[in-house]
Amino acid sequence: MTDLLASTPSLVQERRLVTEIPGPRSRELMERRAATVSSGVGTTLPVFVERAGGGVIRDVDGNSLIDLGAGIAVVNVGNSAPKVVRAVQEQVATFTHTCFMVTPYEGYVAVCEELARVTPGDHEKRTALFNSGSEAVENAVKIARHATGRQAIVVFDHAYHGRTNLTMALTAKNMPYKHRFGPFASEVYRVPMSYPFRDAPGMSGAEAADRAIRQIETQIGAANVAAVLIEPIQGEGGFVVPATGFLPAVAQWCREAGAVFIADEVQTGFCRTGDWFASDAEDVVPDLMTLAKGMAGGLPLAAVTGRAALMDAVHTGGLGGTYGGNPVACAAALASIETMREQDLAGAARAIEDTMVPRLHALGEHTPAIGDVRGRGAMIAVEIVRQGTTEPDAALTAQVARLCHAEGVVVLTAGTYGNVLRFLPPLVIGQDLLNEALDVLEAAFAAATTPVQSAG
Ligand SMILES: *Cc1c(COP(=O)(O)O)cnc(C)c1O
Repeated sequence: MTDLLASTPSLVQERRLVTEIPGPRSRELMERRAATVSSGVGTTLPVFVERAGGGVIRDVDGNSLIDLGAGIAVVNVGNSAPKVVRAVQEQVATFTHTCFMVTPYEGYVAVCEELARVTPGDHEKRTALFNSGSEAVENAVKIARHATGRQAIVVFDHAYHGRTNLTMALTAKNMPYKHRFGPFASEVYRVPMSYPFRDAPGMSGAEAADRAIRQIETQIGAANVAAVLIEPIQGEGGFVVPATGFLPAVAQWCREAGAVFIADEVQTGFCRTGDWFASDAEDVVPDLMTLAKGMAGGLPLAAVTGRAALMDAVHTGGLGGTYGGNPVACAAALASIETMREQDLAGAARAIEDTMVPRLHALGEHTPAIGDVRGRGAMIAVEIVRQGTTEPDAALTAQVARLCHAEGVVVLTAGTYGNVLRFLPPLVIGQDLLNEALDVLEAAFAAATTPVQSAG
C-alpha cells in the first residue's frame, strides 16, 4: 500500500512570518466568522489554520507559527501524527458509526484495555467512553453517587471541570464560564486548594490537606461525601501544582471516609506532565479518573476509567450516549497511545521541562513581574504580578500574550485572576523551535516591562 503521507511534503518546522498577524485572508475569514458564528464562542488568536504538524501551525496567509498550545493540551502526539492519520483513514473507510450500545466493535474494547494498562494502579478496572471532558466528569459524578448512595461532591478553589450544567457548578470561576448561566446543580461544595504561591509561606501539602478536610468534615460531613473531585495539577485555574503530600493526604482521607477519589486528568493526562498521568508523580491511585484531551490526537474522545466495583455498580443502560467511543476516535486513540509509547513522549515532556524551566527562572531573575514559575513536564506556566507583590497583573499578562502572538508564537493565558501565561507545546516539538519560542517570550517581556529610556 502506498503511504499517503510519504508523498506529501511534511510541514517545515520553522517560525516564518510573511504578513502581519492576522494576515489579510485571516481578517477576511474573521469577518465571515463574525457574521455567522455566535460571538459567545471566543478566539485567542484570530489566525485561520491551513495546516498543522509537529510544533507549528501554518495559517491561510502562509505564516508559520510556533505552537505552544497544542489545541489546549490535545495534540500531545502532534497534529496529524502519521500513525493517527493512517489509523483514522483505515477506520473511516471501514465503518464510521454503529453505536457501541447497538452493535459493538473491537476498537472500543481495545481502548478500554489500553486505559486499564496505562492508568495508575493494578486493581481490576473498567472504562466507559464519552465525547468530551465535561461529559466524562458528569459521568464520573453519576457513577460515584450511584455506587456510594451519597450526594455531596467536593471540589476545589480554582477548579475547572467543564461548561455543561453540572460541570459549571463544579468549575470555580464565574467569568466567562458561569456568569448568568445559572441556576447550577446542588450538592456541590468548594474547599481550599493547595496553592503554594498564594498560601502562607511554607504551608506543607499535609497542612493544606488538613485545611480542606476540616472544612469538609464541619460543613458537609464525611458520611455525606460521594466524591472528592480534583485536578492533580489545575489547568484553566492557572497550572496550580499542589504542595507535595497534598494529593496523597486527600486520597487517604477519601479511603477512610468511604468517598470516591476522582482525579480529573482531562488536561494533565497522556504524557503531558512527564508521566502517563499527573497522579503517577506521587503514586496516587485514583478510584476514578476522567480522561479526554490528550487521548486521541485531536479526535473527540473521553473516558471514565476506574475500579471495577464502582464502574460496574451502575445498572446496565445507566451509562452511555449515541457517539461515545466513536470507532474513528477509538482508532485515533489506539494510534496515539502507541505513538506515546514508541516515541517515549513522557520522556519528551520531561525534556521540554528541562529546556523551559531553567530559561523561565533565568527570565524571572531580571523580570520582577514574574512572581512564580511552575508546572511539570510540558505543562509549564508563569504567574504575573505587580512588582514585589502577589497582586495579579492580568493586563501585563494579556499584553505579553499579544506580543507573542504578533511574533508568531501561540501562547495561552489562564488563572482565576487571568494572570498566568501557560505553555502546552505538542510533545513532539523540536528543541530548536522551543528555544526560539522562549527567545520571543523573553523579548515580549522586555518590550512590555522595560520603562521607556530617555535618549542620551
Ligand atoms: C478541558 C477540561 C475539561 C472539559 O473538557 P471538554 O472536552 O472541554 O468538555 C474538564 N476538566 C479539565 C481538567 C479540563 O482541562
